[in-house]
Amino acid sequence: MPVSRPYGTMRAMADLTSLFLAPQDPFADASGHAVSQVLRELKIIGDTLGDDLYRAGDNFSRHVVFAGCSPHLVMEPPEGGSRRFCHVALHGPFAQPKLVTGPNTVKPRCPHCRKRFDDWREHLQQWLRNGQQVRCGHCGTVNSVHTIDWREHALSGRYLIELRNVFPGEATPSDVFLQTLEQESKMPWRYAWAAYLDID
Ligand SMILES: [Zn+2]
Repeated sequence: MPVSRPYGTMRAMADLTSLFLAPQDPFADASGHAVSQVLRELKIIGDTLGDDLYRAGDNFSRHVVFAGCSPHLVMEPPEGGSRRFCHVALHGPFAQPKLVTGPNTVKPRCPHCRKRFDDWREHLQQWLRNGQQVRCGHCGTVNSVHTIDWREHALSGRYLIELRNVFPGEATPSDVFLQTLEQESKMPWRYAWAAYLDID
C-alpha cells in the first residue's frame, strides 16, 4: 500500500531509494535480453551510463507513474557525481534470488499464519546464512526468506529492474509496463520499493 506523499524535507533526509520490479516467482529465470528490449521499446531506458546502467528514456515518467502532483524529476546526472537522479539499473540473472530491503521495509509476515517477524532486521543476516530459511516462531512453518510476505517494501528476484530515485510509495509501474514485461518474459512481475542496490 503506498505511503502518503512525503514532504520535501523528509525526502532530503531519506536514503537513496528505488522502485524495483522482479518476476512474481523469485526463483524464476527471467531472460535479461527480453527485459532490456521491453525497457528500450517502451523508452523507459535511454543511453547507457555504465554497465547495466541507463539514463531514463523519453517515456520514463509515463511508465513510472508518480502519484499526486507531478514532482520535479531530475533526469540528468547532477554535477558533482550525486546519484540522486532518475536512472535505471539492471541486475542479474543471479544463481539465487537476491533480496532487496530498505529504510522503508516493514515487518514481513509469515505466509501461513500471518504473524509478523518483529525482529527481522536483527535476524536477516543469520537467515541469509542459514540456507535462506525462516522459521515462524508462532506456527513453526519454515519458509524461504524470499517468499515470506514483504508486501511492497522489499522483494527478491534472480533478475531485478531498478528504477532509481523513487521514494517509497511515490510512484508505481504503469499497467502497460507490467503487461508488456509479462508478455515478453512469459511470467508475471511485481514491484516494491527498497534502497539502491549496489553490487560489487
Ligand atoms: Zn507462522
